[in-house]
Amino acid sequence: MTPIDISGVGASGQKQGEMTHDDTPVRWPDAACNGKPTDWFYPLGYGHDDEHITEMNRLALECCDQCPRRTECRERALAMVDCYGTWGGHTEPELHQMRVARYGGGQ
Ligand code: SF4
Repeated sequence: MTPIDISGVGASGQKQGEMTHDDTPVRWPDAACNGKPTDWFYPLGYGHDDEHITEMNRLALECCDQCPRRTECRERALAMVDCYGTWGGHTEPELHQMRVARYGGGQ
């Protein structure tokens, strides 16, 4: 899948409170994760042990802390039906909890 470059707010255009099946990666030009290792943000899919996952999550969250796109990124992640990895300064389990709180357990 080729990342799309969007410089505006709103990622794929969905409004808060709507969910989407569009899981196309979004690449903001000023995102702090541009050029950083993918493994930092998607450690669970690589079959790593807990220690490695914790370290990758730490690196990803430090990166997100410096990112001007945290809010848009988190909203993009919460709107996706299937969302994996660290987005918007939140790990995958945190995003799952936030999604359940927002949309209910049926999502
Ligand atoms: S908030 Fe984190 S994952 Fe999202 S664009 Fe910024 S650095 Fe990347």
